[in-house]
Order: sequence, then C-alpha cells, then structure tokens
Amino acid sequence: MESLYTAAARLARGEARAEELVSEALDRVAEREEDLHAFLTLLPESARDDAKASDRRRTAGQALGLFDGIPWAAKDNLLTEGVRTTAASKILGDYLPPYSATAVRRLDERGAVLLGKANLDEFAMGSSTEYSAFGPSRNPVDPTRVPGGSSGGSAVAVAAGMCQFALGSETGGSVRQPAAFCGVVGVKPSYGRVSRYGLIAFASSLDQIGTLTRDVRDAALVLGAIAGEDPMDQTASTVAVPDYLAAVEEGGRALSFGVPAEYLREGVAPEIRAEVERVAAALERDGLRRRDVSLAHTQYALDAYYIIAPAEASSNLSRFDGMRYGPRAEAQDLLEAYRRSRGQGFGPEVKRRILLGTYVLSAGYYDTYYLQAQRLRTLLRQEFLAAFEQVDFLLTPTTPTTAFRFGENTADPLAMYMADALTIPANLAGLPAISVPGRSSQGLPVGLQVMAPPMREDLMLAAAATLEEVAAR
Ligand code: GLN
Repeated sequence: MESLYTAAARLARGEARAEELVSEALDRVAEREEDLHAFLTLLPESARDDAKASDRRRTAGQALGLFDGIPWAAKDNLLTEGVRTTAASKILGDYLPPYSATAVRRLDERGAVLLGKANLDEFAMGSSTEYSAFGPSRNPVDPTRVPGGSSGGSAVAVAAGMCQFALGSETGGSVRQPAAFCGVVGVKPSYGRVSRYGLIAFASSLDQIGTLTRDVRDAALVLGAIAGEDPMDQTASTVAVPDYLAAVEEGGRALSFGVPAEYLREGVAPEIRAEVERVAAALERDGLRRRDVSLAHTQYALDAYYIIAPAEASSNLSRFDGMRYGPRAEAQDLLEAYRRSRGQGFGPEVKRRILLGTYVLSAGYYDTYYLQAQRLRTLLRQEFLAAFEQVDFLLTPTTPTTAFRFGENTADPLAMYMADALTIPANLAGLPAISVPGRSSQGLPVGLQVMAPPMREDLMLAAAATLEEVAAR
C-alpha cells in the first residue's frame, strides 16, 4: 500500500476517491484479518460513510487538508467517542467512551477516516500482544511470530496495508518495538509533545501517544497533526510545534551522531549489531560526523522501569473496581465485589504489575525501590543530556532480537521484559525516539533507532530521513 503522503496527493489530484481508499483498505482487511487479528473493533460502515462525506467535501470544492479521506487505525487504549474501547481487557469489554482522546479528535477534525480499533497487550502491558484478553495479533512478515507490543495491532495494520497509518502508545517501547518487528516506522515523541488526554493511563509519568507509518515523511505528517498544547492535559507542552515536514526534507547530512557501546553489548543479536555498524559506516561516508559516546547507566534502565511503571500502574488501575466500568461480580459486600470484579476482570500480567507496584510502594520498601529508581531516572537523563552536548543524535538498535515465536517468552516474564532493554531508556529520560527499518539479512525486519534531545523531534526526523535513505541502499 502507498504512503499517506502519496495517497493524499492522489486524492488532491482527483486520481482517487476516499471511498476507493477505504474499499482497498477493507479488502485488505478481508484478506488478512482472520490470520493476523490486527483489530478488536472494525468500523466498515462508519468508515464508508466518512469516506463518502470526504468525497462530497472535495467535489464541493472545499479546501481540504492532507488527512481528509485517509483511513487509519487507533490503538484500543485511545478513547473514541461512542466506539467500544477495551484496552484489550475484559474489565473494559463493553466500555463506550463519552469523549475522544485529543489526538483522535485532531485527526477527526482533519477528516481522517477511522477504520477500527487495534489490538494490544492488556492495558499496554507487554511486548508481543500475547497478553491481549482477546487473543494475540500475528506478524504479517511471518505469522508464526509475534508482531511485538504492546501496540502490536497498530503495527500489523500498517505493515499489512490495512490502513495508511496508525496511532499507538508508549510507556516503555510499545510503539518502536512492534514497528521494528513488523518493518514499519514508529515514533515515540518527547514526554509532553502530544496530549495524553483520553489515553487510558498505564504509567502517567511515562505514557505518550506515538505514530506507526510506512515511512519517515508520513511520521512527520502524523506527528505534526497530533502534537501541541492542550488545556485538557497539564503535561502537554506549550512549546510551538515546528514544521516536521520541512525537517524531513532538509535531512540530517549536516548532523553528528554517536553509537553508544552500551547498546551493542551481549544479548544483541550479531545480525542486528552488524546492521547498525553497516548503516553507521554509510552515514559517515555521507559526511555525518561520528563521535564516541558512553551511556554507562543504560544497564540499570530496565530495572528502574520495572519499578516505576508498575508503581504508577498499581495506582492508575485502582479505578477499575467494577463500580463505574465493566462487569460487576456478584458479591455479599463491597470489598468482595471489588475483589471478585478485579480478580475476574484483569489478566495475569496486569495482576503481576499491580502486585509488583503495590509492593515497591509499600512502607519500608518505598525508599529502597521507588526512590532509588527515581534517582536512577535523573542520572540517566543527565547522562543523555551530556551525550547530546557531544553529538546531535544517537544511533542504536531498536531491539536486541528480531520478532520471536509465540510462547517463546511468556513462560519467563524477565525474558519478555528484555525485549524493551534498548527502548526504555528514552522513555525514562523523556526523549523523542524513532525506529526505522534497516536491511534484514535473515528475512525478519530489523529496527534502527534514533534518539534525540528532548523536544527535538525535528532533528530526530531529519536524521531518520537520511537514515532511511542510507539503510535502503
Ligand atoms: N513492554 C513494556 C511493558 O510491558 C512497555 C509497554 C508499553 O510501552 N506500553 O511495560
């Protein structure tokens, strides 16, 4: 399937109608959805109606933006007014939100056509979609393998050509890791760049909405559409949104970069290491300056994340008690109703996180775990900022391995958590980061990651545009 940018150009030239784009997308869904299970809810009727409305606007000669009539998918932890939103949990199995997330609303207002709600790990906790309460999604490149997660359904929908682009969310790698596994582009913006209003909270100091697209230019377009201040989210930055498309067009040839050795250590597959080195050498040949940088605290990032994220999750998920949302279990008294509703409504990984989080926040352990993890987070950020005094961006692998097989990591939670070892540092430090497909030598997609200073998505996208071009050679 063509990119958002080229589809929009065809619409603008009158070479295609939105109704055709939506029909093509739905044909693709009909062909592959049974195998891949990208969606939890599909909206064929409203999508067709929205497309027709877009075509009518165009025929009437209205000035339309780039997104008008373009089909897209939203991760099912983004609220969509009147459209079932489950977070892939039984506890929200029949939830109809009374309002839409700001990012969703901004796309609605631009005339984009919502095709459906994409599958994820329950409450975005996981790295493979195997923890979805409604069954996993499958990797379109090799359906015996996971698509990554938690935004797995969003990545699958884009990679399989079921829609032009998708939104996902990140707390610790959940857009970049599935993008890397499925061979598409995934962006995690700086903390605060995109409003979190209407994103079902997992760990509020880390959560951020991100984009899944076919190429870097499309990432710039989608990010530009959803970024910016929002009175409904106090953590949404008021810093003006730059012209990301211009940054992509300028490219990153004048930039300098570093490849921190800590990201190429044991555990990173040789094939992935080789691809990062190949692309780094090609960037140097193209005139980008390379300097050595070291990020010594990287090794502690995963540990800190698995204290901070569960701590915040245990608090955020206390609202799901069977009273206001989801099914309420039969019980004699209130406490028993809470216990049973939560016991039946949450899956095993979510329960593990709630237990972990409650433990690390409990009196006596708070200082040992939570406070230490927060200190580490500060050090990690300082270390990144020092590195960005030396170089403009960092180049690393996105993941230590390519897509793994179903069941390979579910028996060992720690092995599953390792899938995020290289993405999580950017979440803890609040940096923008992107995964761009590299060249795969074994037939499975490889992701190359660019990290940039906070709020420098322009620089990140410029670098990624050059990287995308160089990696494809
Ligand atoms: N896989 C990580 C986790 O399970 C990250 C999830 C995410 O980014 N939403 O916590």
